[in-house]
Amino acid sequence: MHSYKKGLKSFNALVEALEQIPTIGKKSALKMAYTLGVENKFLGIKIAHCIENAIHNVRKCSFCNALSENELCEICSDTSRDNSQLCFVLHSRDIFSIEETKEYNGIYYVLENLEELDFEKLKKAIMQRGVKEIIFAFTPTLANEGIMLFIEDKLQNLSLHFSKIAQGVPTGIGLENIDQLSLSRAIISRIKI
Ligand SMILES: [Zn+2]
Repeated sequence: MHSYKKGLKSFNALVEALEQIPTIGKKSALKMAYTLGVENKFLGIKIAHCIENAIHNVRKCSFCNALSENELCEICSDTSRDNSQLCFVLHSRDIFSIEETKEYNGIYYVLENLEELDFEKLKKAIMQRGVKEIIFAFTPTLANEGIMLFIEDKLQNLSLHFSKIAQGVPTGIGLENIDQLSLSRAIISRIKI
């Protein structure tokens, strides 16, 4: 007897691909595959196009590593931003959270991989842009404290002020999970380190 599943190669390939998305389990993948491949083919084609466009067009800003569709992101190329403040974040998505608070008008630096961070390039950029204050927008964990100390140490000969976001940021959770008011307060009442 032939297996029912075996005859549905394309459908199963879609389910298996969707299952690889973080937080998507087998049941959700099956539901999504049914919606996109059977029930709402128009949405399926639209999403396929969006994914293709995003893959081709989205890259990283050459200064701050944030998501960008140009050489420099919108923030780095915005002349009204205060270049004297540079906010370090761990992920590009943290910028969305901080921008939503509307409490910060400086520039950012996305620290994705500490080992790959080119400090010489960063130092040059800091001097070129006239950065005076480094703000760490990390959630308080032991590992993140270590990262802050490491960066501070590497940049110590540049006469910069260092601060980190303050109260209201619980330990061990991502910035995107903090409510806007708490994050606003944490940015305003950042503490010198
Ligand atoms: Zn940028």
